[in-house]
Amino acid sequence: MTTTRFAPSPTGYIHVGNLRTALMNYLIARKAGGTFILRIDDTDPERSKEEYVDAIKEDLEWLGLTWDKVERQSERLDRYAEAADKLREIGRFYEAFETPTELDLKRKKQLNMGKPPVYDRAALELSDAEKDALRAERGNGVWRFKLDQARIDWTDGILGDISIDAASVSDPVLIRGDGQVLYTIASVVDDTDMGVTHVVRGSDHVTNTATQIQIMAALGHGHPEFAHHSLLTGPQGEALSKRLGTLALRDLREAGVQPMALLSLMARLGSSDPVELRTEMAELIEGFDINRFGSAPTKFDAEDLYPLTGRYLQSLPVSAVAADLDALGVPADAQEGFWAVAKENITTLKDLAGWWALCRDGAEPLIAEEDEEFVAEAMALLPEGPYDSESWGKWTAAVKEKTGRKGKGLFMPLRKAVTGMERGPDMSALLPLMQVIRARG
Ligand code: GLU
Repeated sequence: MTTTRFAPSPTGYIHVGNLRTALMNYLIARKAGGTFILRIDDTDPERSKEEYVDAIKEDLEWLGLTWDKVERQSERLDRYAEAADKLREIGRFYEAFETPTELDLKRKKQLNMGKPPVYDRAALELSDAEKDALRAERGNGVWRFKLDQARIDWTDGILGDISIDAASVSDPVLIRGDGQVLYTIASVVDDTDMGVTHVVRGSDHVTNTATQIQIMAALGHGHPEFAHHSLLTGPQGEALSKRLGTLALRDLREAGVQPMALLSLMARLGSSDPVELRTEMAELIEGFDINRFGSAPTKFDAEDLYPLTGRYLQSLPVSAVAADLDALGVPADAQEGFWAVAKENITTLKDLAGWWALCRDGAEPLIAEEDEEFVAEAMALLPEGPYDSESWGKWTAAVKEKTGRKGKGLFMPLRKAVTGMERGPDMSALLPLMQVIRARG
């Protein structure tokens, strides 16, 4: 039974970077008919906020990335304590008392000597009496997992064969001095308890994975399949990490981006398959293959979301936007015609307001000085509305006959006079929707 999880820490809003993680895990579970868990990594009571938990759920729901169950690490502290006891029992867990400053100093010395800055395990040499003395002086120490200094190998779903020398990695701290359980062990316990079969996460977690594989083994378990996706960069390859805050899903939603546009892009970006707009989640699930993703950093340009959003909207029947049209005050009997015209000329639903205002109120006419006389003549030939799909053709034919103008010289000044713009919907379709033509004067 395939089980995946998306495990955000509720310390901020979801952005395009973690959306990728969520989506990949979701698609793997759905494609296999498995289970998708939303796991809230909230072991840090100071930084975790309930409002972010709510926001994460809201954002995932907006996207349609529904989960089968929610787990919260803050409710599983007993399980983590049990695992910690087991590691102590089997001699793989030790208390260390170095202050951050001392650790920093050690690292600097190692670097100066051209050595990798790996924790030197000095705490392993402490006698019980020395530990008692340090504890009395400094409070409880941190608890480190004693890595087995061998190579750690796995075949990664994206990166291929990985081999990491555990000797090049510091023994990870799993419990802080104040007793706070850290993600590294909590995640291991959760993944094994919950039967997680596939873990997809960012390549910034590769070293974590190496240590987690050993912790899982120490606790008597095998490990899930791992896949580490590349990190996103900006369009020029620049690091995105600092800007991710501005690429929060709620900001994209606010800007009018449609969920299927965002999902279609993220399900393919960085893979060998082209980005194609999908209008149904089922199609995304069907076409997803984690093995087709590459390890190179993935360029992301938020601008790409808008053409996809426009194309998605064009695929929608009027019934799908009825609520939006109601909100704009488009009368029920005008909605079908309005949508048919407007949808070809919008990027997001926000653009509808402008087109509706044009139909309802008309536009400030745009008339070049040399066209003033021509437009006045043409307006005199424009019959009273309401107009139908033939009105524009009949009117321009009459104007042509009267003035002798044709082609662009005929149509463009009239379009500009009626709509106030040089470009826009097909005039034959637009004219019937127009209730006011201000160029009539
Ligand atoms: N809470 C961790 C993070 O957001 C989860 C990483 C993982 O998927 O294991 O980075």
